[in-house]
Amino acid sequence: MKNNNFCDLNGKICVITGGGGAIGSSLAHFLAEAGLKLAILDLNGKRAIEVAEEISEKTESSVLGIETNVLDKQSLISAKNTIHEKLGKVSYLINAAGGNSPKGTTELEFLETLSDESIEKSFYGLAPEGFKNVYELNFSGTLLPSMIFTRDMLEMGGGAVINFSSMSAYHPLTRVSAYSAAKAAVSNFTEWLAVHLAKQNVRVNAVAPGFFVGEQNRFLLYDKDTGELSPRGKKIIQNTPMGRFGDYEEIHGTILYLLSDLAKFVTGVIIPIDGGFNAYSGV
Ligand code: NAD
Repeated sequence: MKNNNFCDLNGKICVITGGGGAIGSSLAHFLAEAGLKLAILDLNGKRAIEVAEEISEKTESSVLGIETNVLDKQSLISAKNTIHEKLGKVSYLINAAGGNSPKGTTELEFLETLSDESIEKSFYGLAPEGFKNVYELNFSGTLLPSMIFTRDMLEMGGGAVINFSSMSAYHPLTRVSAYSAAKAAVSNFTEWLAVHLAKQNVRVNAVAPGFFVGEQNRFLLYDKDTGELSPRGKKIIQNTPMGRFGDYEEIHGTILYLLSDLAKFVTGVIIPIDGGFNAYSGV
């Protein structure tokens, strides 16, 4: 294959949900530099607009920041109308809105004793609402934007979707039960939609980042009083053969590859970006 330096992406329109977040905003900066026009969608509209403005100051790319709720079909349709009016039809969708919450997380890793306190801190103390919210954000927050934005790709004869899965989708991590269930569903849905849309030349893939420190998981990885690694943070580093957390920039290359024509026969895959965590048995 001829090396075209990713020019097939030049001038095409890419939607990034959760584009105001840590990974989404870092990706937005990178993809604008690669020549894509961007629509940055986030529930935090102020942040989406700020990211769009930061990018516009640095690059020639057209960038919009739009307050959007990925769990609300009307909000997504309204964002799509604005994108059509100001940029055009969407070729690529990156579903980066998602995350965990303490409300979908047990305090205990294992239920070892049956005291009232232990029961409360275990699975039995989880509020179903907390579980549901985390599940919905990650799963429905991927499903609904895919439903709305891939319609443009059908009309244009092709496109690509990239979802965000997690290490928790392969083997559930302790404590984060709602998040694990949701990300397993995201991986499964990625494969399902890849098959469903294959004949329309719409590719659907996912990345499964390992451990990158952000607001959603800082409370699990660091002790908030001392700033030292938490016991869980230490365990993760011990189980990551590369021996460190990832930098957000280390996600960029895989995304660029999956969007581009270099991956034009690649669909339905979930690529770990994890310093070897998923491959390591711990021994
Ligand atoms: P983040 O919390 O920094 O960003 C998520 C963004 O989504 C935020 O800007 C938030 O405002 C937005 N958002 C939340 N609810 C929304 C809604 N209903 N509608 C629209 N936007 C909404 O998280 P991040 O670290 O950038 O993670 C991005 C994705 O990568 C998530 O799906 C996350 O689960 C996944 N991931 C992250 C890591 C990591 O280590 N950071 C690891 C594996 C997977």
